Amino acid sequence: MVINRIKFLKDEINKSNYKYYVEEDPYLSDFEYDKLFAELRELEEKHPLLKTADSPTQRVGSVSEKFFSHKHKYRLYSLDNTYNYEDLKSWYEKIQKEFKEPVELVCELKIDGLAIALTYDKGIFTLGVTRGDGVTGENITNNLKTIKAIPLKLFEEKSVEVRGEIYMPKTSFERLNEENLKNGEKVFANPRNAASGSLRQLDSKITAQRDLSMFTYTGIFENSADTPDNHYDGMMYLKKLGFKINPNIRLCKNADEAINFCKEWENKRFELDYATDGVVIKVNSFAQQQELGFTARAPKWATAFKFPPEEVTTKLLDVELNVGKTGAVTPVAILTPVQLGGSVVQRASLHNFDEIKRLDVRIGDSVLIKKAAEIIPKVIKVMETDEHDNLPVYTAPETCPCCGQKLETREQEVVLYCTNPDCPAINKEKINYWASKEAMDIDNIGPAVIEQLYNSGFIKTPVDLYKLTMEDFLSLEGVKEKSASNMYEAIQKSKNNPLKRFITALSIRNVGKETADILACEYGSLENLMAANVEELAEINGIGDKIAEEIFEYFHEEKNIEMLKNLEELGVKPALAPKAVSDIFKGATFVLTGTLQNMTRDEASEIIKSHGGKTSSSVSKNTTYVLAGANAGSKLDKAQNLEIPILTENEFLEMIK
Ligand code: NAD
Repeated sequence: MVINRIKFLKDEINKSNYKYYVEEDPYLSDFEYDKLFAELRELEEKHPLLKTADSPTQRVGSVSEKFFSHKHKYRLYSLDNTYNYEDLKSWYEKIQKEFKEPVELVCELKIDGLAIALTYDKGIFTLGVTRGDGVTGENITNNLKTIKAIPLKLFEEKSVEVRGEIYMPKTSFERLNEENLKNGEKVFANPRNAASGSLRQLDSKITAQRDLSMFTYTGIFENSADTPDNHYDGMMYLKKLGFKINPNIRLCKNADEAINFCKEWENKRFELDYATDGVVIKVNSFAQQQELGFTARAPKWATAFKFPPEEVTTKLLDVELNVGKTGAVTPVAILTPVQLGGSVVQRASLHNFDEIKRLDVRIGDSVLIKKAAEIIPKVIKVMETDEHDNLPVYTAPETCPCCGQKLETREQEVVLYCTNPDCPAINKEKINYWASKEAMDIDNIGPAVIEQLYNSGFIKTPVDLYKLTMEDFLSLEGVKEKSASNMYEAIQKSKNNPLKRFITALSIRNVGKETADILACEYGSLENLMAANVEELAEINGIGDKIAEEIFEYFHEEKNIEMLKNLEELGVKPALAPKAVSDIFKGATFVLTGTLQNMTRDEASEIIKSHGGKTSSSVSKNTTYVLAGANAGSKLDKAQNLEIPILTENEFLEMIK
């Protein structure tokens, strides 16, 4: 039995190694691969006689024959890994027992890319080789020379071999996939595969067009007499020589401090523009490292703590159809519940019916789902299985799942729409949105009460909310005096909400929270906005011709004018918005980070907007300034990497004086 299981595990791991390293098209998620690997390692430990030299636990990666192979001067190892903190603690305790003096650790982000070794001869880059199987790699020097983060000449004439991770920023990965999709070319499963595929191109010109970068994480010096004696100082020295090192590195006194670092990054990692799948924890002292040595596959002086998986495979049980407030019908994957990114997931986005067709998703398939910063995970791939071909091809619906109306597409859009103005699903969604946090933010009025009120015939549109009486609420099943009064009062309170909330709640096509905010600042009152013409609207920074027309049309449509009149008669009068103070920040986008001394971040946003600027939640090449307060986090690092001007609070206050 054990022999069979070991054979199965070895075959499965070897097969997935080939798909992952050579074909760059994995068919297992990393989490599942790691689970099989851990099981094999455990069985081999229990039954040492069954451990053979060709076992994947005794080897690293794989080499393809695409490029000239090159034997490494110093072997490149893999890393052992764990998904839990207890293991990390025992790993440290075991090491600490070996030494009388304290064992310091260095924590670094584990960059999810491709390992390479670079040789510098008296400061000149001469050779670049992939890790391959650790003993032999592929010579890809010419391709590596196209990557700007790799210095061709160092600031000092040192002879050194460095190791680092080549990666593709997440935004570049998404752009590349979008372009490839348009041109009918290969779509990569994740940034790691995209980086590997881009780097291992026979034509360097293609590599040069891809946005690749590198973080260096180790250096082996030919003459070590004048170089640091520990890893942390070694990293700082590499930086001084001209290498790009990851700024998120910390010296820790013990396992607890290292665990804190891991905990900090479990969520913060989503703010980064590159993929990281964990934290690498290394013994700092080179002397201690040397004493600890290596296993057949990995150093004993380092380990990787892996974050809860962002990707996992599960079974697609059904496709649910959701009707949104615009009438858009979107498919949602209903899944066998599975652990992902620290929570149990049973629903995932399938985007639209074109995406289902492109991925050839069929009910019953095994699918790869991914969780990133967004709350709802996405289906990103169908796994190759024998069953797939026997499952019926999914066909998009022709009629609305709620009212049965024939679905239509709009010009240049792939989305299917229900156009029935009386569709109950659309009506309920419009009311849900009206009351939601994003729009009018009416406390206690959530989807469940809206469903009850709608089904009892009390409401059909958001306007009807303002006609509700205490008696109406009390007539609902399970609603008592106190909650009826809370709901009633919350609705009354929303009548004088800020103008930006009111504009958001109207659900004008392509007018979300941010555009509503711009319009409120620009016009100050609903009357002024309603009187604006298309040209005037189009001139506002951040609006554009198409949205201007949509806003204009909205306020000139009979039924909308009627609705706004009804709302006014019911006492819904949004508060006037403060008018713009100046346009000194016209065209500028700010990102706020850290704690400010003289104002909250919300207040700072209001100031920026009143001076014609915009705010955004993430740093990108389009950011004009980052306003940084105390304890600013990864946004600040990213701004530094992208060389975006960083303002202190005082500099900001000076600008608006
Ligand atoms: P690994 O990627 O888990 O860890 C070792 C590598 O981490 C090193 O080679 C190095 O390149 C990298 N690394 C990143 N940042 C680092 C840093 N700061 N310091 C040191 N090293 C750093 O190990 P591996 O041997 O490359 O691959 C095994 C892993 O690859 C598996 O655990 C699995 O996650 C994945 N894998 C998946 C499949 C699949 O089918 N999904 C197949 C094979 C491998």
